[in-house]
Amino acid sequence: LLCPSMGPHMSKVMESKLQHKIAKNKALLFALGGRLDMEGALTTRDRVGIQDFVLLDETTEVAIISNLKKRFSKDLIYTYIGTLIVSVNPYKDLDIYNKKQMDVYMGVNFFELPPHIYALADNAYHTMLTEFNNHFILISGESGAGKTEASKKILQYYAVSCPSTTLMNTVRDKMLMSNPVLEAFGNAKTLKNDNSSRFGKYMDIQFDSQGDAVGGHILNYLLEKSRVVHQNHGERNFHVFYQLVEGGSDDLLTQLGLKRDVQHYYYLTQGECAIVSSINDKNDWKSVKNALQVIEFDETNTNHLFRVVASVLHLGNVHFDPDSKGHALLKNNTELNWVSDLLGVDANNLKEGLTFRKIEAKTEQVLSPFTIDHAIYVRDALAKAIYGQTFTWLVNRINESMENKDSPRKTVIGLLDIYGFEVFYVNSFEQFCINYCNEKLQQLFIQLTLKAEQEEYEAEGIEWEPVQFFNNKIICDLVEEKHRGIISILDEECLRPGDATDLTFLDRLEEKMGNHPHFVTHRLADKMTRKTLERGDFRLLHYAGEVTYCVVGFLDKNNDLLYRNIKNVICLLQECFSAVDTTNKRRPETVATQFKNSLQKLTEMLMAKEAWYIRCLKSNESKQPGQFDEALIRHQVKYLGLMEHLRVRRAGFAYRRKYEDFLKRYKPLCPATWPHWRGMPADGVEVLAQHLGYLPDEYKMGRTKIFIRHPRTLYATEDAYEKC
Ligand code: ADP
Ligand code: MG
Repeated sequence: LLCPSMGPHMSKVMESKLQHKIAKNKALLFALGGRLDMEGALTTRDRVGIQDFVLLDETTEVAIISNLKKRFSKDLIYTYIGTLIVSVNPYKDLDIYNKKQMDVYMGVNFFELPPHIYALADNAYHTMLTEFNNHFILISGESGAGKTEASKKILQYYAVSCPSTTLMNTVRDKMLMSNPVLEAFGNAKTLKNDNSSRFGKYMDIQFDSQGDAVGGHILNYLLEKSRVVHQNHGERNFHVFYQLVEGGSDDLLTQLGLKRDVQHYYYLTQGECAIVSSINDKNDWKSVKNALQVIEFDETNTNHLFRVVASVLHLGNVHFDPDSKGHALLKNNTELNWVSDLLGVDANNLKEGLTFRKIEAKTEQVLSPFTIDHAIYVRDALAKAIYGQTFTWLVNRINESMENKDSPRKTVIGLLDIYGFEVFYVNSFEQFCINYCNEKLQQLFIQLTLKAEQEEYEAEGIEWEPVQFFNNKIICDLVEEKHRGIISILDEECLRPGDATDLTFLDRLEEKMGNHPHFVTHRLADKMTRKTLERGDFRLLHYAGEVTYCVVGFLDKNNDLLYRNIKNVICLLQECFSAVDTTNKRRPETVATQFKNSLQKLTEMLMAKEAWYIRCLKSNESKQPGQFDEALIRHQVKYLGLMEHLRVRRAGFAYRRKYEDFLKRYKPLCPATWPHWRGMPADGVEVLAQHLGYLPDEYKMGRTKIFIRHPRTLYATEDAYEKC
């Protein structure tokens, strides 16, 4: 209305229509936490920051962080990079996840409303329905950044807003209720997050052609089994142990031989924080039991689960004394008898397995006694194996329950909630696997984004301009290449009989990788980076930054060995452990190789789908609302590769919009297009572009979209629109 060029062309009716539209937008923005103050001197951009990083004037880290900070201070936690969402954990409940909000975002054009996770969920859903293709949403970020919350919110969005029938409602309930169960068994309190997921999760939500959610399927990755037997100070074991001891009925505890005292159990007390103020184990136990019913766990399966959980607690309390030769002897039989009783295995076999190794010579079997340390090692290995196998079994049962049995499945949207880059003071085998996983996902992102970009340019008939970016394939190869990569070398050392140790593994790495541009050994470290490395360390220059790994424990963790006689013991738990095949004398695949193969399968599966990304950032380490720790955010912006994303997305033409959408928004800016453009939308956009003074090199007209090279051009248009 303030735009002088509009004055003469606008009738009273048009004016009132526009006023009405502005009022509606204003109300909408207010409802969504934005502020659109028409009279104010500042533009919306000045006040609430930019909604899409693609439109930033300069793509520097400083500009990204200051935009995030500005938005965070207004409780605007979501910002786009194109269709990717960056989310900053607010650590407080925002009133933006209710049914009303879901309705606002349903079926609305992606860029019409302020950024929201629902917009992304809705866009993926509608694209799936119109294009009949499969999608996935990759949620990444460091621990505590909000990945699991984001995935739950998306699942809720689909559960609430997709059309439904009574039959489908039960499938939805099961999908929603799989969460509390998996969280009980797979989540734990860590220093970073009171409810930290200790496994990677991929969940397919299956839809029929009407868009009904008709089934689900979960794949799990690399459960952190070591937590079962050891917790660092300030951390806990998996929630379910505490829930059972705190919440289980008196009868149940008696049946399982448990005391109602978490302090009694060695596996629960090493972190010295069994009780956490933010966690109510008693109530959570009720929720888990309720969820187990919804996902149709019958009494046998439920009992089986509880018995396994209890048996692990008893196993942790099996202690050893030395005999006269220093060999391990059981301190007492009580706990062991409970384990044997609960798992239905022979007590003598179990006892033998925990204190002797059975070596099969040609004609006879020799029993070699363990030292105490060795016996403890085997006890812990058994506890980890039992728990790990039970977790896999649990996921399989949940999958059976969510299986779509009736409707023909058409398309899926997958949710990938997986660990982000981890850099600790000391980084071990687990960080190596997790960071390798992130390299693979970055590689997938590059391939899919570039592919998508290229395809879009081609589909739109616009000449493809090669994009400059760092391709991290070289690092993926360094880790995973057959016969030459780090995993192969690690496996070779694990197989080599005799004197192989973590340090000989490091020697091999140095021999073979010494000259690789992304590998640094302690010998070369001074020369290359001028930073010292300890003797047992190697450093990888990941795409997101450098990480130093300490090789201690690499061989052991990669082998994840269970001696055959103890393996036989758990094999008796047939249903649970059908996956363990003791008749097979071949060595099982190592942990790293299994992980590599499962990542390979995952990436192949994802490559065939259309990708959406959510990058979660943690606002501060103290889990407090209203605190925006710039240094911490900077670190994550770097490790999540946001700059790389932005670069790829802005290369060529930063902004593109369907002609209809562009015209709908900006038509008030040109007398020839306002209030109605009667010709083809593309022609209307061309007229608009001419009227706005776009230079020929600044934009291109595709088949269905206008492409704008630099955000500046759009800014001028957007500013004019705001004034108007
Ligand atoms: P991650 O899965 O990335 O480790 P979580 O999703 O478990 O992190 O989030 C950690 C905690 O942060 C949650 O328990 C919750 O308290 C808080 N949180 C995360 N996302 C949100 C959000 N969108 N709104 C409010 N609080 C959140
Ligand atoms: Mg999580």
